[in-house]
Amino acid sequence: MVQPMPMKLANTPVEQITVNGHGFYLKRDDLLHRDFSGNKARKFYALLQRDLSATSKLIGYGSAQANSLHSLAVLARLKSVPLDFYVDHIPSFLRQNPAGNYRSALDNGTQVIAVDKAARQQLPMADYLRTRVLPDAPEALFIPEGGSDQAAGTGIGLLAEEIIGWAGELGLTDLKVALPSGTGTTALFLQKHFCQRALPFEVLTCACVGDEAYLRLQFTALSADQAFHPRILPTHKKYHFGRPVRAFYHVWQQLQQQTGVTFELLYDPLGWITLLDYVQGLGAGAVPILYIHQGGLLGNETMLPRYRRKWPDCGIN
Ligand SMILES: *Cc1c(COP(=O)(O)O)cnc(C)c1O
Repeated sequence: MVQPMPMKLANTPVEQITVNGHGFYLKRDDLLHRDFSGNKARKFYALLQRDLSATSKLIGYGSAQANSLHSLAVLARLKSVPLDFYVDHIPSFLRQNPAGNYRSALDNGTQVIAVDKAARQQLPMADYLRTRVLPDAPEALFIPEGGSDQAAGTGIGLLAEEIIGWAGELGLTDLKVALPSGTGTTALFLQKHFCQRALPFEVLTCACVGDEAYLRLQFTALSADQAFHPRILPTHKKYHFGRPVRAFYHVWQQLQQQTGVTFELLYDPLGWITLLDYVQGLGAGAVPILYIHQGGLLGNETMLPRYRRKWPDCGIN
């Protein structure tokens, strides 16, 4: 169950790993907190610090298996505020066997509410919530999907400061910081923070949800200044977000074998595929690279069984 406050949400360790013969630093943001790990904990940091005593409930939305569902559920419980989390649908196997992020949400008292497209009269979920749900929910606080808004900048700024402090201790004057993107919020606020601190650190990312054009739009929505936009490493192949991909499982397993670290299965495989591609082209004496492990391991609880069902022969156990 949830650990009591105050939470120590800072100063995660950095390790050195070797992947396919290339050396990397690894920021273990997955070790931030047992119930509140990685990416979403950084993004919801400001919300966690905020006084919600006058808030009647939190209203969020996304996938029934989303990492943000688990993190928001824990946050809502810690703050003693109810959470209504809207989803398009709850897969029947998940409804029958709650696991991972979905089970955590139920355990923490979240109401997971399915409203499919027909019931929304074809409205996108965000529009449906804004026009049909929020007007009847006074004092409710709306959380954009994946925690993608300006408030995320506070916690991500702290992550950037940890990286700057660590690099200073090692005497690193230049650095590449790599992390896979969903909404691009984390990557963008990291790059923005490094620029504002006048550091040459470059953020490398890849588009896991949608294509590069979608990710660029997301960056622009958060900051019109192109100088703050991270570099998007090319993906070469089109993947449907959230679907099991054999090559993803293969990389995930290789990473586990070579580093002893368990990564997550939605974002990290593409993050590593694009990053390993990128380092292939680099010569000796290249700028050191820090990969950020953004947590999300609870999601593996539902992803691994999906791989097993799809490829019973692929050695997943
Ligand atoms: C949400 C999440 C991401 C994507 O973060 P964005 O800020 O939306 O780009 C990446 N990795 C993990 C593990 C996540 O939970």
